[in-house]
Amino acid sequence: MVQLVDSHCHLDFDKFDSDRDQVVAAAQGAGVVAIINPGTDLASSRAAVRLAEKYEIVYAAIGIHPHDATTFSAKTLSALRDLASHPKVVAVGEIGLDYHRKYSPPDVQRKAFAAQLELAEELNLPVIVHNRKASRDTFDMLDTWLSERRAPADRDGRREPCGVLHSYSAGTDWLGRAIEHGFLIGISGPVTFPKAAALHQVAKAAPLERLLVETDAPFLTPVPCRGRRNEPAYVQYVAAAVADLCGVSIQQIGEQTTENAFGLFPGDRKPS
Ligand SMILES: [Zn+2]
Ligand SMILES: [Zn+2]
Repeated sequence: MVQLVDSHCHLDFDKFDSDRDQVVAAAQGAGVVAIINPGTDLASSRAAVRLAEKYEIVYAAIGIHPHDATTFSAKTLSALRDLASHPKVVAVGEIGLDYHRKYSPPDVQRKAFAAQLELAEELNLPVIVHNRKASRDTFDMLDTWLSERRAPADRDGRREPCGVLHSYSAGTDWLGRAIEHGFLIGISGPVTFPKAAALHQVAKAAPLERLLVETDAPFLTPVPCRGRRNEPAYVQYVAAAVADLCGVSIQQIGEQTTENAFGLFPGDRKPS
């Protein structure tokens, strides 16, 4: 069976309250060997850690989503820092900027993003970055962060993987900069949509060793399950679409993206 990592799934959301055990079992049945559950606010980060304790294949990330940036404070930051000492916390996220919905004012979003980038640096954890219609500011802030905080690039101008741009939607225009900066590219359900030409280009243009697959469940349900709640088992459809676009087997996509995920997220989490 093809092994897959769902690198971004909100298993803590209440959409899974009635059947979470079955959802995790179905994911395992579909070859999913690890699920990364990012936090969106403090309560959700705590819930992600609890789920990581309960389910062997679940790992947590801790962070405040740009939508919830108004809830970010010095107190939140110190609570996140405490949570991060848990051995199954593998990243800071999801953090970033969302100028599409603007549920929090952009300046508040930028402040929370900057502080959490610093937290990742302090904890030596990779970041899970959410960027929606905010590419310029997102990349500018990542530039600043990388130049001030992270280890210098190698002779080819490349850096070690330092995070993932999840549910990547910035198009090929920003892809070079993302790769150069050492980011992995998280491909989600829309890659299965026939009309998502820009995302198809991204999947084809990105080096295989920089790709991750994800569901972002319960959102962004892929074809052929549209209209239903998304769940981690459906990451197989994302992987199949990427394989198709790249002209390689789904086995190859599974092996490579699983290796990429285990390379990015620290700790001993190789599938047995
Ligand atoms: Zn997101
Ligand atoms: Zn998300």
